[in-house]
Amino acid sequence: MNDSERDYDYDLFVIGAGSGGVRAGRVSASYGARVAVAESAALGGTCVNVGCIPKKLFVYASHFREDFRDSTGFGWTTPEPSFDWSVLLANKDREIARLNAVYASLLSDAGVELVTGRARIVGPHTLEVAGTRHTADHILIATGGWPSLPEIPGIEHAITSNEAFHLKELPRRALIVGGGYIAVEFAGIYHGLGVETTQLYRGPLFLRGFDDDVRTAVAEEMRKKGLDIRFDSNVAAIEKVTTGLRAVLEDGSSLEADTILYATGRTPNTRGLGLEELGVEIAPGGAIVVDEFSRSSVPGIWAIGDATDRVNLTPVAIHEAMCLARTLFRGEPTKPVHRDVASAVFSQPPVGCVGLSEAEARRAYPQVDVYRSRFRALKHTLSGSSEQTMMKLVVDRASDRVVGIHMVGPDAGEIIQGFSVAMKCGATKAQLDATIGIHPTSAEEFVTMRDPV
Ligand code: NDP
Repeated sequence: MNDSERDYDYDLFVIGAGSGGVRAGRVSASYGARVAVAESAALGGTCVNVGCIPKKLFVYASHFREDFRDSTGFGWTTPEPSFDWSVLLANKDREIARLNAVYASLLSDAGVELVTGRARIVGPHTLEVAGTRHTADHILIATGGWPSLPEIPGIEHAITSNEAFHLKELPRRALIVGGGYIAVEFAGIYHGLGVETTQLYRGPLFLRGFDDDVRTAVAEEMRKKGLDIRFDSNVAAIEKVTTGLRAVLEDGSSLEADTILYATGRTPNTRGLGLEELGVEIAPGGAIVVDEFSRSSVPGIWAIGDATDRVNLTPVAIHEAMCLARTLFRGEPTKPVHRDVASAVFSQPPVGCVGLSEAEARRAYPQVDVYRSRFRALKHTLSGSSEQTMMKLVVDRASDRVVGIHMVGPDAGEIIQGFSVAMKCGATKAQLDATIGIHPTSAEEFVTMRDPV
């Protein structure tokens, strides 16, 4: 470090204490950097406060309805179960508050200074937070994203996932607009909690970008559970009526609901930070343009996580954070790797996948073998549920390497996490075949599929 760098208040000033920002701050501090993190809202960002964590708690809550029903086939008799939304909300809020405190101590234990308020970059290496100026050798933008809604008449009556986590009352009827992760997850949550739920998606089949067999399987299973899912359908306007909200659809028909939840994507949170004034290149959708090392177009300004709109997942932001800390403060320039990132959609049943969809693989390789299995899990032979599990392997025939693994069914996320390690290691189909299964599990199907479809 040279003398001029020592003149700054900090070596690194992070804007945003979400998953990426906190990790970048802590790890940089552990490498000896003097670090501050600015945050204007609750610590932990989207994932902790209005994303992954409360969402998964809600998924658990909503799945009990089916579990109670399934238990009867195993001999249980239970009184008619009832659900109290206020208990779930209070318990969820308590857990989130605990996590907020954990994040605060993670920062202070690492020697990172927490600065409360909205930060704005006011000049090269200079920021202002709540009227106080700070200087830093490096500035990291880790401000995440924010729900984006289309501009249709009456959109102010709709809520987003931000509000869905704090509704005072559980709606009796919910309309969900969108066909991505958030929309299918909330459709399952509301339906499981007993809300009359309709999901509208503007295209022919939701979960665009996922493997087609995954998309079809999720739609079929959700419909079997009684969800009203409508494709090629969209809202033109929302009106407030005495009995709730009326969504006027593009085909002229209408639907009434108590809550209309829009899950139509998220926009990087990059406005009002002083980036444009400094000449930081921003893509048309608002993402900060970065190079392979997460460096923006302006020296000294870096960006990670959803603010860069690369792969918008918490573990990816954390990975980008670790790479950046190594690059800046350990003398080891490290590029984050965005290939073969495993992910799960906590729909009901859930999706787990890693690697290429069949369609992507067919574009990437001349010959592709596909192995697919659909079956009723052992549990459902007694539960009476007709839920089907779908598992699929996509293999590059020339190298025999497994290039895509997909699953729709209970514990898909847990199962795919393990298989994603095998894929990272370059596993071939022959190696999966040589692996002995664990019986009886659903996961064993991945090592016993013999004939391509
Ligand atoms: P997505 O970008 O995944 O999906 C947005 C959906 O809204 C798409 O179906 C899109 O349709 C539709 N849409 C967009 N604009 C309109 C419009 N004007 N009118 C009607 N429909 C529209 O966004 P989400 O909000 O679901 O999630 C945001 C991000 O959060 C994701 O990128 C994901 O990475 C992350 N996330 C991850 C989770 C997980 O890992 N389990 C859980 C939740 C979120 P179309 O397909 O036609 O474009």
